[in-house]
Amino acid sequence: MEYKSFLIKYAEIGTKGKNRYIFEDLLCKNIRSAMRRIDGRFLVRKEYGRIFVDCMQDYDFDEAVEALQHVFGIVGICPVLVLPDMPWEALSEELVHFIDENYEEKNFSFKVNCRRINKEYPMRSMDVNIEAGAVLLEAFPDLRVDVHKPDVMVHIELRDQIYIYSAVFAGSGGLPVGTNGKAMLLLSGGIDSPVAGYMVSKRGVHLEAVYFDAPPHTSPQAKQKVIDLAKLVAKYAGAVRLHIIHFTDIQEAIYHTCPEDEITIIMRRYMMRIAQHLAEENECQALITGESIGQVASQTIFSLQVTNAVCTYPVFRPCIGMDKQEIVDIAEKIHTYETSILPYEDCCTTFVAKHPVTKPRLEDIEASERLLNDRIDDLLRQAVETEEVMTVW
Ligand code: ATP
Ligand code: MG
Repeated sequence: MEYKSFLIKYAEIGTKGKNRYIFEDLLCKNIRSAMRRIDGRFLVRKEYGRIFVDCMQDYDFDEAVEALQHVFGIVGICPVLVLPDMPWEALSEELVHFIDENYEEKNFSFKVNCRRINKEYPMRSMDVNIEAGAVLLEAFPDLRVDVHKPDVMVHIELRDQIYIYSAVFAGSGGLPVGTNGKAMLLLSGGIDSPVAGYMVSKRGVHLEAVYFDAPPHTSPQAKQKVIDLAKLVAKYAGAVRLHIIHFTDIQEAIYHTCPEDEITIIMRRYMMRIAQHLAEENECQALITGESIGQVASQTIFSLQVTNAVCTYPVFRPCIGMDKQEIVDIAEKIHTYETSILPYEDCCTTFVAKHPVTKPRLEDIEASERLLNDRIDDLLRQAVETEEVMTVW
């Protein structure tokens, strides 16, 4: 069946009371941007607390569903048959045709759920349920009615027009991006940080991202990988501004000056300082990292405390309580995994100590950092001044 419209179901948005229209309008806007990425012409309209996407030209069904599945705030995507107002005799024929076209095997259980918003319609919703059930059982004798746990729920909505739908494709859930401010994601080429960005963005948060690049210790491919990951995250999060910071000089200074077992933790602290500076400059309210307790030496709870000590902004670490496999599962679901595992070195692997501290003491780390006092301010300024910025989507 050629569907000309989708009915969009959204959940949490509906609980926002007086601000509901802001959420709905943003959701419509985000749906429009998502649909602009694919072929076709789509009209997104809000009607009676419902959002419809009308397909105005030829389009690819799977591509359209997939595009909608990337929009946060949507819980269900229902391809819907839209009919003009018509009497029951004609409508019942359309209903039979709908089931015939959509289901190859007609041996499932079903329930009809009618909503009558158009109070002029000459039948009440209960009568439509009963009549529709009877009509379908007569047309397809192997169907069964099950009012408790039907395989297929057939929805009929009587409005100015009539809507029939039964399939629901799961959406991504969450809240529309833009309803909750903006955060700066520390995006490495690894598995965890793209997942962290996805998870925070899911709660309605716009993303900017920062990558600390360390050429020639890291390759152009490593940088391209991060750009590609930012694009994959942007499929959900919308356009992402990516800041690329030239981190080599800072890293080398740390490497040549500070105790070997502390270099990772000190490096992480400088990353966080720069990230927070960028967050301030770019109207972000928080930072995001892909850290998970105990995953590596720099992510023991002691190391996290010392890293965190340089930040005054909230640092969101949505992977904090997750096992690696749980993070991988999400990475696979959002299609960042394959890119993340491409074998390019990152700056942390190049400058890694054999035995990094796992219980750093803040006083010791601060003392080591004081060894950089004569040049670190210049290096930080330079790093920020020479940043490369691009918008990916
Ligand atoms: P990931 O899989 O996200 O790379 P990881 O397990 O490799 O994480 P670390 O290398 O310790 O962990 O980094 C911890 C977090 O610090 C990352 O999740 C990311 O948010 C940030 N980070 C690390 N390296 C970089 C970098 N080069 N540029 C930007 N952020 C980084
Ligand atoms: Mg990493």
